[in-house]
Amino acid sequence: MARLERAVSAHPGEPHRGGIASRLNWLRAGVLGANDGIVSTAGLVVGVAGATTSAGAILTAGVAGLVAGAVSMALGEYVSVSSQRDTERALLAKERAELDEFPEQELDELTALYEAKGLAPATARQVAVELTAADAFAAHAEVELGISAQELTNPWHAAGSSALAFTAGSSLPLAAILLPPAGIRIPVTFVVVLVALALTGLISARLGGSPATRAIVRLVTGGAAAMVVTYGIGHLLGVAAG
Ligand SMILES: [Zn+2]
Repeated sequence: MARLERAVSAHPGEPHRGGIASRLNWLRAGVLGANDGIVSTAGLVVGVAGATTSAGAILTAGVAGLVAGAVSMALGEYVSVSSQRDTERALLAKERAELDEFPEQELDELTALYEAKGLAPATARQVAVELTAADAFAAHAEVELGISAQELTNPWHAAGSSALAFTAGSSLPLAAILLPPAGIRIPVTFVVVLVALALTGLISARLGGSPATRAIVRLVTGGAAAMVVTYGIGHLLGVAAG
């Protein structure tokens, strides 16, 4: 979910990562994280409920699954965004050194980049000269590397956001299996989870501007399969152990 934090940290005025597109990416990443939480926790609690009617056992397994999943998501995100940031920092440091050592070549390089974008050679030269006079480092970071020098991704924010999205998703199947009476807890959880997945499928399709039906069918089918399989396994193990 590196997209998520990149989108959040992007400056609203930035040309290629700005404004509404960023916010949409951010929301989409949040919905995907919530899906992870819904499906994995639903599979877990339905599996345990297939083996035992003990609400304590279901609660323990569900909460442990929620915490483990949230930590795992946060850790994965922290590691991936940290290494991405290290890479970006190294690229920026190299760029700064090149600008110090070879200012003429760097000006030519910037000119060539603007020519490649479609400007006439004279115009490209003038743009490069003016941007170099204003802030050569920022111009090279953005045009050459596609990095905003002031807006490096924060791994802690990325980790926190994905843990939060996962927790929000997880709490749904957890509540659905614990709140109703024991006799109907599994069907209630199936219905709640599949309705939630249909909703998140609809939302992410809308955010991405893609057809909703296919996204919904994929998610609902996948979620139903996860619960059927874990219920079956839990039931078999419960019978074998009991
Ligand atoms: Zn350069």
